[in-house]
Amino acid sequence: MKNESTFSCSGEPVTTTAQWVKSQIKNEEIEKYLKDGKDFIDDEKIERLISEKTNPTREKIEEILERAMDIKLLSDEDTAYLVNVKDKELRDLVFEAAKKIKFKVYDNRIVTFAPLYLGSKCVNNCKYCGFRCSNNEIERRVLTMEEVRKETQVLCGKIGHKRLVVVYGEHPATSCDYIVESMKTIYSVKEKVRNGVGEIRRVNINAAPMCISDMKRLHEAGIGTFQVFQETYNHKVYKEVHPENTLKGNYRWRLYALHRAMEAGVDDVAIGTLFGLADWRFEVLGMVAHARDLEEKFGLGPHTVSVPRLEPAAGTEFDWVKHWVSDEDFRYLVAVLRVAIPYAGLIVTNREKPEMIKSLIDIITQRDADSRIGIGSYTLAYENGELDKQHSEKQQFMLGDSRSLDEIIRELAQEGHIVSFCTAGYRCGRTGKKIMTLLENGREGCFCKLNAVLTFQEWLEDFASEETKKIGEAIIKKEIEEIKSRVPKDFSQPVFDKFLEAYNKIISGERDLYF
Ligand code: SAM
Ligand code: SF4
Repeated sequence: MKNESTFSCSGEPVTTTAQWVKSQIKNEEIEKYLKDGKDFIDDEKIERLISEKTNPTREKIEEILERAMDIKLLSDEDTAYLVNVKDKELRDLVFEAAKKIKFKVYDNRIVTFAPLYLGSKCVNNCKYCGFRCSNNEIERRVLTMEEVRKETQVLCGKIGHKRLVVVYGEHPATSCDYIVESMKTIYSVKEKVRNGVGEIRRVNINAAPMCISDMKRLHEAGIGTFQVFQETYNHKVYKEVHPENTLKGNYRWRLYALHRAMEAGVDDVAIGTLFGLADWRFEVLGMVAHARDLEEKFGLGPHTVSVPRLEPAAGTEFDWVKHWVSDEDFRYLVAVLRVAIPYAGLIVTNREKPEMIKSLIDIITQRDADSRIGIGSYTLAYENGELDKQHSEKQQFMLGDSRSLDEIIRELAQEGHIVSFCTAGYRCGRTGKKIMTLLENGREGCFCKLNAVLTFQEWLEDFASEETKKIGEAIIKKEIEEIKSRVPKDFSQPVFDKFLEAYNKIISGERDLYF
């Protein structure tokens, strides 16, 4: 960090990387959340539940699944029974319940987004990650604001994304100042597209844990969701994969990252586990415990749950991995999470193969599309015509699905899913507790159903190929008929009329209309 200066969380200037690392963790912002000096992950209790709640009967599983239909977080005991199901028929039962819950809360909607990696510099040394500081096989780069602008222009002007997850390594070069500046840059980009304007309307962030005052700055800059994945909830395994002398080596600083975010006013937070590090059953119980602690302390749980699985990464050995998750178990654990944390959105990314995502599409709510994870690779791919660049360059990990957004949307529409580009909830204050209540009683679905049609039509007008437009419009027609059939039970006549008016305005060129 030569000739650069940045600031610690308490506002003091720091000039070396070592000083910056030392200034990041505030112990008082961990201790305040502990109960009798303990955090909320009780490894012994989780292990005991897993070893005791075995061989559940069909009746037991049916009883648990019925409870889950209330769209409330499941108990640890119920979740332990679910993770211990091995019988294929019983697992199918859980999968069917997961589908019903998804439909009850989120209908047939799928949200798409793109990840945007802005820097590969990192002070940590996570055993599984291509960005770890001891990996000499990757090129280290942090994008300038001009480069961030260019990446955004491709994402919102050429591909048609409205929503991003922006990803940062943990490094003084991509500290809070940089994150705030990059968010502002992304939101400022407006691109002329076929019939309207391309722009990013929601910037979600996947970054290292921060202190409360830094989180406040991200809140002010308009952060959507703040994602911090715990990677593993198992204390022992966490220690094995995150060297103790690194920032990430502090389990509790990470465990309470989302508590600090909530305290700073960011009420839209996302949990995740990197599956493969520890027994997946332990991780599922860990995620439920995390959701419960957030609910207990702040009155609301995570907005989304992510389920990355370990993937090969450049310059990284994986011979130490003991808990690779099979496809069958992975599919099942996603279903268990759908049932156990029923109000949360569920994200599966292009780390997975298209067939896997397809098999989960009825229980998940978000997937990425047309993703590139190299630093600066959207610009390279679209402006320099190096379309397959992401596959040859050295990156954090490898992607499983590299189809275009148009192809993915066409496939989803063919199968009866409506792709929503809606970002209204966050912009009109339907976040946090408000959205949680609406999700639990099914009301958020009503707003979303209307907004999904409006934003999907907008996308079809501005970006779709002829073929995708035809298939997309057929599903929109069906949706409008369904909405009409629910007047006046779920939608009043004036709301329906206003909706049709907005729909027609979009066709004639108006943009960004929502309820
Ligand atoms: N540096 C920040 C952090 O660690 O939270 C954010 C960026 S990090 C690149 C984002 C996520 O990538 C991590 O939380 C981890 O779950 C995931 N990841 C890292 N290595 C991976 C691998 N080999 N396969 C799949 N996912 C990986
Ligand atoms: Fe750095 Fe995050 Fe990768 Fe760990 S997972 S090496 S913290 S980028």
